Amino acid sequence: MSQVAEQRSETAFGDFKSAYDARQARIEANRCLYCLDAPCITACPTSIDIPEFIRKIATGNEKGSARTIFAANILGMSCARVCPVEKLCVGDCVFNNMDSPPIQIGKLQRYATDLAYEKGWSFFEAGADTGKSVGLVGSGPATLAAAHRLRTQGHACTIYEKRDVVGGLNTYGVAPYKMRADKSVEEVDWILSIGGIDVETGVEIGSDVTFAELEQKHDAVFIGFGLGADSWLGVDGEKTGGVYGATEYIERIKLDVVDLSGVQTACVVGGGNTAIDAVRELKWLGVPTVYMVYRGDEARMSGYHHEWHAARVEAVWARWGTQPIGYESEGGQVTAIRCIRCDEKKQPMPDTEHAISCELVLLAIGQSKLDGLVADLDGIATDRGRIVVDDDRATGRAGYYAGGDCINGGKEVVNATADGGLAADAIHAWLGAGNSLRGK
Ligand SMILES: Cc1cc2nc3c(=O)[nH]c(=O)nc-3n(C[C@H](O)[C@H](O)[C@H](O)COP(=O)(O)OP(=O)(O)OC[C@H]3O[C@@H](n4cnc5c(N)ncnc54)[C@H](O)[C@@H]3O)c2cc1C
Ligand code: SF4
Repeated sequence: MSQVAEQRSETAFGDFKSAYDARQARIEANRCLYCLDAPCITACPTSIDIPEFIRKIATGNEKGSARTIFAANILGMSCARVCPVEKLCVGDCVFNNMDSPPIQIGKLQRYATDLAYEKGWSFFEAGADTGKSVGLVGSGPATLAAAHRLRTQGHACTIYEKRDVVGGLNTYGVAPYKMRADKSVEEVDWILSIGGIDVETGVEIGSDVTFAELEQKHDAVFIGFGLGADSWLGVDGEKTGGVYGATEYIERIKLDVVDLSGVQTACVVGGGNTAIDAVRELKWLGVPTVYMVYRGDEARMSGYHHEWHAARVEAVWARWGTQPIGYESEGGQVTAIRCIRCDEKKQPMPDTEHAISCELVLLAIGQSKLDGLVADLDGIATDRGRIVVDDDRATGRAGYYAGGDCINGGKEVVNATADGGLAADAIHAWLGAGNSLRGK
């Protein structure tokens, strides 16, 4: 399987969240009330039986605990690291209503799943061969979850990935202090160890291989191609050196080496989670002054407040109510970002133009959609760039299913994983009813 380069800027990052040892895990597990109708389960998009896996840790059955997690969520290892648990399971733990700290579900999940990787426990086998084959587009969490479930049901799978590395944004997007790229690739290898899932990297569906060709080779297709390139502001001078899309730059930090030696001040434009990740990453890589430049205010930013508070502790600054309107440059390199102040309705205010000197600008104002790739496929509808699916993740074109960021416009790893599982079950039922794309 594909490996990541040894030399990467992300290796400068440590693990920001300490892991439990066996004693700590058991003490925390024993605090759980094992609630009936547990709200933490409802809050998890993959519906992991959280009280059950915690109870198994409390009774020393770590292997059983890991099995419970992976049976519901095959990406349980990465989800334990990257899930915004404060907004999901931990946020809904009943202890929040009792003036007591909520159960640290993410850390307990990490304890059990890390142990499974460390000990080499395997829980799943490929199902009896059905003679059917599914083509899956992209190798991110949605596809990996779908492919693994389909293999347990006996279908052959081929994943087509346009990049040279596998794992999607888990590998090249997620903040390195949550999970580094090599850990994500390790997860992919662990998932693929079930056997019978082929991965073709460096193959872009829509150009290297067409959907018509996929239909000749496979009985069903799963689309998990995520989102496209970073959006740009569209203001004058944007193609200046030193101005990048945030996810493009984060990918460099994760998979390559970036040179920030000449950067005294960096501006990250946006108020979402990608902007928060970017400011924290730049700060930790040694940029002395890092600003988040956002036209709204702190109360209305779309990024998670717990993440922003962590950034503030790390001495990252925000320029609230500030909208970029252009750039200043010298010798083709950005020297400042020109801005205007905005009122509380995010409307520019007259006579408030000013410049913020900086040597690096990252634009974290969203990613484009890849709906153009499916524009010629009759029956597949899109809504604001998102592929429209039903509850089973079926598109309107028979034999085509989709999940992850390409249907929700950009949520979390755990949502993509849940989609992959739902789609796999629906594909299994569709194939089981004698349907196939081949020969149509
Ligand atoms: C900077 C950043 C940080 C994030 N941090 C977190 C986090 O901390 N926690 C969290 O839960 N979520 C986080 N997310 C969101 C999370 O990463 C995504 O929701 C999740 O990865 C979506 O999974 P996916 O499988 O739908 O798509 P992706 O992970 O985007 O995978 C899609 C894959 O398809 C490939 N592809 C695209 N087009 C084609 C094509 N035509 N042919 C073949 N392959 C193609 C891509 O190269 C990619 O590998 C973050 C997102 C970003 C941008
Ligand atoms: S809500 Fe909290 S206490 Fe109840 S089962 Fe879930 S983790 Fe345990």
